[in-house]
Amino acid sequence: MTKLKWTGFAKKSPQERIELIKTFGLLDSESQDILENQVSLPLEIANQMAENIVTELALPFAIAPDFLVNGKSYQLPMVTEEPSVVAAASFAAKLIKHSGGFKTTVHSRQMIGQVALFDVTDFEKASTHIMTQKSFLLELANQAHPSIVKRGGGARDLWIEQKEDFLIVYVSVDTKEAMGANMVNTMMEALTPSLEKLSKGQTLMAILSNYATESLVTAECTINISILSRNKEEAHHLAKKLVMASQLAQVDSYRASTHNKGIFNGIDALVMATGNDWRAIEAGAHTYASRNGQYRGLSQWSYDEATATVHGQMTLPMPIATRGGSIGLNPTVQVAHDLLGNPDAKELAGLIVSLGLAQNFAALKALTSTGIQAGHMKLQAKSLALLAGAREAEVGPLVQKLLNEKHMNLTTAESLLNSLRNAKRS
Ligand code: NDP
Repeated sequence: MTKLKWTGFAKKSPQERIELIKTFGLLDSESQDILENQVSLPLEIANQMAENIVTELALPFAIAPDFLVNGKSYQLPMVTEEPSVVAAASFAAKLIKHSGGFKTTVHSRQMIGQVALFDVTDFEKASTHIMTQKSFLLELANQAHPSIVKRGGGARDLWIEQKEDFLIVYVSVDTKEAMGANMVNTMMEALTPSLEKLSKGQTLMAILSNYATESLVTAECTINISILSRNKEEAHHLAKKLVMASQLAQVDSYRASTHNKGIFNGIDALVMATGNDWRAIEAGAHTYASRNGQYRGLSQWSYDEATATVHGQMTLPMPIATRGGSIGLNPTVQVAHDLLGNPDAKELAGLIVSLGLAQNFAALKALTSTGIQAGHMKLQAKSLALLAGAREAEVGPLVQKLLNEKHMNLTTAESLLNSLRNAKRS
């Protein structure tokens, strides 16, 4: 493929961006048609996806271009309503690309199901009985969902833990390209009669766990500090502050929460664009962030003075899917997968974690240098201009006027818009 030139993408209109994507040949004809004709989710399909449907809620679908991940350039679809998120991601991607981009590692990709038993009187005996039947139980789980076995997946391991009064049986399952909630739930429920018999206890519940510790993914990047500032001394100073910002999120949960929120600005946007269950991803990651008893930042940055580089790395559970759930139902989700080059679940997981790390870099860089508000205020002014009813041609001049105001709010935006219109009339 020829080298794609994304310079000026942010300044184009949506129609011009769609045209550019066509010129670049990034989509197949069906996806291109969905974009050009703004095909949305048909209401009759939405009505099958959830209950009591009356309409749909649309959200902005953007592209953060040219993310270099494992040596390959990706254009990342992002669904978000928050101003500055896509701009920050694109900016970070550009800087990180200059230092070699992201490297990702998928440590494993299995989901974990659990059966919680209670009223077990002899834990030791129950555990021994269950563990001696491990192969039989794994086979039983597979028989409950034979299609995943045909696809090369299925139940892989079984172990037991006693927690207070509960005897908990955990089963890891290779769910291939699916997230696997329904298939794991089916498997766990199929195990309960045998587990009750073997443990002489009762089942409280049998269900997938969203704490997907067998689906850990790492993204990392090494950035030359010259991109922080052209001045060597200032770059050194900013690199130290970046590392301190990452340390702060390790020791202060108030900061860690906001640190991770910034990471999820990116992660959720790509998870949503690809039709995945973002609550599942959030739940697993936040649990992982508190795995040592305190909620901490998910990413960590270090500074190597000898090579004048900062190194960022982030590991979290990323049980993402490319099949199943509502993925095949929503036309725009199809565009997202196509735009990414239809990656498999492991490749997609690496992209999502890379985007989270890029978002984190952009936030920490802004926070420890100019502050976050400088960039935000312009976008806030734009939102206010739109809320005040400014037409496309009025947005630019109104934003400029708003930025000169001491306090920006909707009332100011409306009164400035009025004076702009009056000035035009007279
Ligand atoms: P599905 O129930 O849709 O199952 C996945 C489907 O994908 C299977 O029917 C399978 O078909 C098909 N498939 C096609 N190709 C592949 C492939 N290569 N690898 C694997 N499967 C393939 O979805 P999940 O079981 O993944 O469950 C995810 C859904 O469950 C999400 O919508 C989520 O919101 C929801 N959910 C989440 C919960 C949670 O997070 N705790 C709880 C309950 C629901 P076949 O059978 O032919 O193999």
